Amino acid sequence: MLIVMNQDATAEQIARVTDAVREMGFQAHPMPGAQRTAVCVTGNKDVVPIDTFAGLPGIKEIIRVSKPYKLVSREFKPEGTVLRFGDRSIGGEELTVIAGPCSVETADTTLRIAERLREMGVQFFRAGAFKPRTSPYAFQGLGQEGLDILAKVKSECGMFIVTELLEAEALPMIAEVADIIQIGARNMHNTALLKRLGTVKQPILLKRGMAATLDEFLMAAEYIMSEGNYNVILCERGIRTISQHCRFTLDVAAISALKQISHLPVLADPSHAAGVSSMVAPLAQASVAAGADGVMIEVHDDAKAAWCDGPQAMHPDELRSTLARLEQIRRSVAPEQPVQSG
Ligand code: PEP
Ligand code: MN
Repeated sequence: MLIVMNQDATAEQIARVTDAVREMGFQAHPMPGAQRTAVCVTGNKDVVPIDTFAGLPGIKEIIRVSKPYKLVSREFKPEGTVLRFGDRSIGGEELTVIAGPCSVETADTTLRIAERLREMGVQFFRAGAFKPRTSPYAFQGLGQEGLDILAKVKSECGMFIVTELLEAEALPMIAEVADIIQIGARNMHNTALLKRLGTVKQPILLKRGMAATLDEFLMAAEYIMSEGNYNVILCERGIRTISQHCRFTLDVAAISALKQISHLPVLADPSHAAGVSSMVAPLAQASVAAGADGVMIEVHDDAKAAWCDGPQAMHPDELRSTLARLEQIRRSVAPEQPVQSG
């Protein structure tokens, strides 16, 4: 249920509503917006009796939410969520680019790649210190050593760090260095982990499970938000289909659907969808054309020697030209800004 407050509702009126919700044993999530504050009610198994709120001042309307997801939806928050990182933002007007090698490698290689990316204006560096691999015999990531290298990237290149969390035990060490915590496709269904992430301060980059419906994906985000972390970034990374020409099928329509249903920023990961570097740029372009707020791309300057996912790694030089095209596409599909008068 959604309690929409009047535009001029006072803080005290909002507090009276949230108190009333909590007294009923439910959770109240007040979300201030540009036009009005809405209080989302969660935790109720049955229909919340609307009469309870009769007579409380400042309420504009009470909306019953028919969808299973609430906090993620645009019904709750009509304007898009914008996450700020220094002078950069995700979900706003600028196109977000997160890039880096699949896994953290040696300090030399990792810093060299990070420096190349920073030179071209990429501010978000992504590499895994913990890797979810299909084979238990494959390289699993450098662990703490990898996190130490990421800390160096942060201090020496001044970049924001995105890295994957595989299990709750590693949360304290990851939280030390990560500016954004990535939850991979395989963990999208791990509800215990998702709940735990509701209690951290970092934004969560949540990747869609490779066989997850949009409802399941959105409910995974809802798990994080229901525990109090409203800073979730959705990432379409391709789903499993009958196609054999790429690793996964990038669900471009999902990008558009997610942007309509949810206020959360939506990124695309064309690298894991493509599986081969030659298809990464076209899929990135399609994603931005479909309305993605940005892309997460795997990059390596010596793909043959990459420790993980080398075949899909884009060279930094190719990323540079791709980014220029993505900017053009972004401009051409962006809704027209109203002309300022006066
Ligand atoms: C990754 O981002 O390196 C990764 C393993 O992706 P996914 O979880 O989407 O497979
Ligand atoms: Mn990878």
